[in-house]
Amino acid sequence: MKKRHIIGGAIAAAAAANAVHAALYTPKKTESEPLPQEDVNVQRYRENLSKAIQCKTVSYRESERVDWAEFEKFHKFLDEAYPLIAKTLEKEIVPPANLIYRWKGTRSDLEPIAMLAHQDVVPISAGTEEDWTHDPFSGHDDGEFIWGRGSVDMKNHLIAVMESVEALLEDGYVPERDVYLLFGDNEEVVANSDNGAKDIMLTLKERGITLESIVDEGGAMIPIHVPGVLEHKFLAGVGVAEKGYSDIEIVVNAKGGHSSQPPVHTALGKIAGVIKDLEDNQFKAYLNENMKSLFDAIGRECSYPVRLITCNMPLLHPAIIELSKHIPFLACLTRTTTAVTMAQGSPAANVLPQRAAITVNFRAMPGTTKQDLIDHIRKVCKNKDIEINVLNSKEASSFSPTDSRAYGIIRDVTKSLQSGAIVAPYLVMGGTDAYNYEPICKNIYRYAPFELTTELLRCTHGTNERLPINLMENALLFFKNYIRRASAE
Ligand SMILES: [Zn+2]
Repeated sequence: MKKRHIIGGAIAAAAAANAVHAALYTPKKTESEPLPQEDVNVQRYRENLSKAIQCKTVSYRESERVDWAEFEKFHKFLDEAYPLIAKTLEKEIVPPANLIYRWKGTRSDLEPIAMLAHQDVVPISAGTEEDWTHDPFSGHDDGEFIWGRGSVDMKNHLIAVMESVEALLEDGYVPERDVYLLFGDNEEVVANSDNGAKDIMLTLKERGITLESIVDEGGAMIPIHVPGVLEHKFLAGVGVAEKGYSDIEIVVNAKGGHSSQPPVHTALGKIAGVIKDLEDNQFKAYLNENMKSLFDAIGRECSYPVRLITCNMPLLHPAIIELSKHIPFLACLTRTTTAVTMAQGSPAANVLPQRAAITVNFRAMPGTTKQDLIDHIRKVCKNKDIEINVLNSKEASSFSPTDSRAYGIIRDVTKSLQSGAIVAPYLVMGGTDAYNYEPICKNIYRYAPFELTTELLRCTHGTNERLPINLMENALLFFKNYIRRASAE
């Protein structure tokens, strides 16, 4: 009897301690000064975004296909739309059409900050032109949205940066640090060896310039609403790293011959075994420190009874990892992903293939290299007669810290502007121009202050890309506040 009482008492004490822990497990407090009142000109932004979309700055892998006159038109438009920037900032073009603007600060002993954006947009897929509600290069303003290619990726961001700098100049603001606006001309061309952003970085590097911090596209503000658990919140993911990208071809060779006398396994049959081995032996899932902070930040915002569970976050990590394997959205945050995307066999139905090949697209976690991918393929494939060819590869970025001055400003400005924002580090799946700046900058953040629904995010690179007008004011306030604060001191 007595023993049972002791056990009961211990459980009650543990439950009480957990309840106290859960009650105290709340969002971490950060010291932040109140933001100054800022004037922003939403009407001018709206008109200029529309005009920016009308410049067809489409990039292609083959640079001879690019209509460079459209980039010239875009540059001329920027000069006319933002007269104070044209008058005050030094402008330079790194051929063919990359833009460097330098806003000289008063303190040359401090490292400059940089705001990045790309000028180019992806083409409209052939045959889908008629599916658009409004012409993709009209920049049509229907009072609710600005429509067109680049309205979300990322002329919205580029024009918001220009608009904010122009507004700061109108206020008579003078930065202490130099402020660079760096706009590449071909970000959308994946794995381009002569990347415009790299040329800009090399231009700065040759001059001995290193940057204190960079803000580029890539992060997201995702609305979260789970009744009773997490209500009316936004997850503001600040991209502190981006995954690697590799297309790897795997080939099986065979004798070939007439299909009337086939072996048990043709080359294509053998490559099917390779596909099975790759899909059955995925990379190990794990939570890196940034993903742990992301889940911790979400756990702290949950409602009280739910926090009885989430306050024990480290104990939940194995369950999160297990769960992530079955949810593609989470899996890509926790492991290097393997996607078999293309396959080739014989050129005719009655000919045995002499060569069968698949292409696998890997998105590597930071820390996993191209060589690790090749070693993984060799290890998991039972067929040892495979040939491995790397077609395209870009290593993952390194991680930017979350205790830097710039990260703190992004967090504070976001939280001041958006009640309910959960600001947390995030891993970016795609590539960005910012990646190219690692040789001259340690604090690289990928973040866009536009709260887009998943439906609108899906239109990026697709049909009916459009930006809601009601998101504009907050975005302009974010950039103006960020640039003012980050360029001071
Ligand atoms: Zn983009």
